[in-house]
Amino acid sequence: MTRYNIRDDKGVLQAVHVREDVPEGKRVWWEQPDGTKGLNGRPVASLPLYGSEEVPLWPLEEVIMVTEGEKAMEALASIGFCVLGTVTGAATCPDVPSVEAVAKDRLFCLWPDHDDAGREHMARMASTLYEAGARKVWIIHTDGLTWPKGADSADFVGLTPSEGFEEFRGMKTERIKALVSRRAHLVSKVAVVSSHREETTAKVRPLRLIHVSGGNVGVTAESLAAQLQRVRSQPGGGYVGRCPSHDDRVASLSFTENDEGRLLLYCHAGCTFEQVMAAVR
Ligand SMILES: [Zn+2]
Repeated sequence: MTRYNIRDDKGVLQAVHVREDVPEGKRVWWEQPDGTKGLNGRPVASLPLYGSEEVPLWPLEEVIMVTEGEKAMEALASIGFCVLGTVTGAATCPDVPSVEAVAKDRLFCLWPDHDDAGREHMARMASTLYEAGARKVWIIHTDGLTWPKGADSADFVGLTPSEGFEEFRGMKTERIKALVSRRAHLVSKVAVVSSHREETTAKVRPLRLIHVSGGNVGVTAESLAAQLQRVRSQPGGGYVGRCPSHDDRVASLSFTENDEGRLLLYCHAGCTFEQVMAAVR
């Protein structure tokens, strides 16, 4: 069972989103801060974005990613993004007052789930953020890609091993590395940009894929974790820690293993799988 605490920008707990994986699929429900089930009539659209309590710590020039849902949010956070997650589900969208405190004067890049409902959700989110005072909003377009339907940043980052994604992870791309560098001007170059009310079709360039490299080298994620510094495990599975292959002051290496025992890793600074493996031997 996973409990996501939904806090406002002051850090005050507003609600808890509980997710339980059961044999039939998943069960999801809301609890109020006192533990009572349900939201007592409060509209889900009035809840803050997941991660809002972090926003006051982020520089104004930082591009804040927005994902659909808490799990996708945590996946992107694990590779070093500033990121917020919507908690409403794709069918609805946060209202303007609920995002005002985090949106004012900020830059956003929205990452829709790879289906029509997800794209519609983020298109509405873009309008909402502009109305709430955002400076600039971009949307990543995944339309041209043959990703599995509904794929999101958790699949992409590789922290959720998912069917059909392995081949994409092998594709190299400079563009997404630039995106990962978190700079506004780079994001606007790479991420395909559709500003508010502009024609999107003219500007669509599909997002390319991050190069998460990996291999079967007899090293488990756990044994790698034991060799690195500043390691912490991630809520969605996998670890982050200091990359052994470059002078890493923060924990820029994300790593996990898939169901076949293949070690997958991504260095925020661009080290390859081989370089990281050479450094721990
Ligand atoms: Zn590195």
